[in-house]
Amino acid sequence: MKNLDTFETDKKICMHFEDDRERFEGAVVPPIFHNTLFTYETVDVLNDALQSEHSFYVYGRGTNPTVEIVEKKLAALERGQACKLFSSGMAAISAALINSVKSGDHVLCVSNLYFSTMELLKYLGKFNVSHSVIYSTETEAIKQALQPNTKVIFLESPTDMTFRLINLDEVADLARTKGIRTIIDNTWATPLFQKPLTKGIDVVVHSASKYLGGHSDVLGGAIVTSKENMKTIFRKEYLLMGAAMTPNEASLLLRGLRTLPFRIQGHEENAIKVAKFLHNHPKVKQVNFPGLETHPDYHLGKSQLSGYSGLMSFELNEASFNDVKGVINKMKVFKIGVSWGSFESLIISPSLGNNEGKLVKEHIDPCTIRLAVGLENANALIEDLEQALSE
Ligand SMILES: *Cc1c(COP(=O)(O)O)cnc(C)c1O
Repeated sequence: MKNLDTFETDKKICMHFEDDRERFEGAVVPPIFHNTLFTYETVDVLNDALQSEHSFYVYGRGTNPTVEIVEKKLAALERGQACKLFSSGMAAISAALINSVKSGDHVLCVSNLYFSTMELLKYLGKFNVSHSVIYSTETEAIKQALQPNTKVIFLESPTDMTFRLINLDEVADLARTKGIRTIIDNTWATPLFQKPLTKGIDVVVHSASKYLGGHSDVLGGAIVTSKENMKTIFRKEYLLMGAAMTPNEASLLLRGLRTLPFRIQGHEENAIKVAKFLHNHPKVKQVNFPGLETHPDYHLGKSQLSGYSGLMSFELNEASFNDVKGVINKMKVFKIGVSWGSFESLIISPSLGNNEGKLVKEHIDPCTIRLAVGLENANALIEDLEQALSE
């Protein structure tokens, strides 16, 4: 399944691409440029630089050499033309969305999106931008859900919490024929396991706070898209909303990226073992993980994913909120916490004890538990789940 050539190319990109050692005295790790501005020899040269600020170093809210190295690596990993790094995933998602809509436009969400993305879309109602959610991942249903004023199809594949896959080729084709922009949140797969731009998707967004950073010490986000799309995103959303990634965060992200290919394979290996264990457990009703052969989108996954990361969910059989809480509270290796995509294993439930109606409406089983499978010993993770699910 893994295209070895592609994976080996990606490894090289993560490790050495654009590190530009000659430019930095042979430094094996590029320096952190802390300066907020760059000075110029003459007024004319500065004025020229300001005309195309995206390709010159003028001011830190726009460009920075340390940040730029990471942007070039991410663009290359996604096989995209241009990348900008933001101070968080939500900053990148906000910029991508606001760039794509105006008053009167509609955004179609395919199934559940990341919680804050949904909240942002609700908030955009204030500017007369509407949205709706189609709780199906079938292309035909997505087509039927389009409205005359739909300007964006926003998707995550796998979908948030339910981990269903969307056919990227088909949705990209559908959108293109209707002049609709497609935006995908590719945080789950990372560019190592899914390259949506090569499938015809227009804009990729990431939370770099997850696998890309990978050590729970970086907050960041990214947009990867065509040069043409990035031109206005840079001039408007990037410079004007001012959520640039700092050079310090970029250097941590750069360090994280060096080992991404190795970490992501470790997550995959552990996640498959954990998913298989849960699948065979009598207390588990269903495991939502596209790497299981019993998953309804397993074959679609084989054609558009080259691997599986470590985030999944499972549903308990005949359980109450107290049972869900009981299992989570008993975990020892899995820690209770938000976020995911880092070395440590984490566990959480979308259930709060008072939101069952909302979850059912969102097609999420109230007895769902989400696992972020980390890089610990797989047997230790399985034993932890076994003891928590016993009696
Ligand atoms: C965490 C997350 C985000 C938001 O990223 P931040 O860096 O926390 O702003 C967006 N999408 C997905 C899928 C996420 O998991």
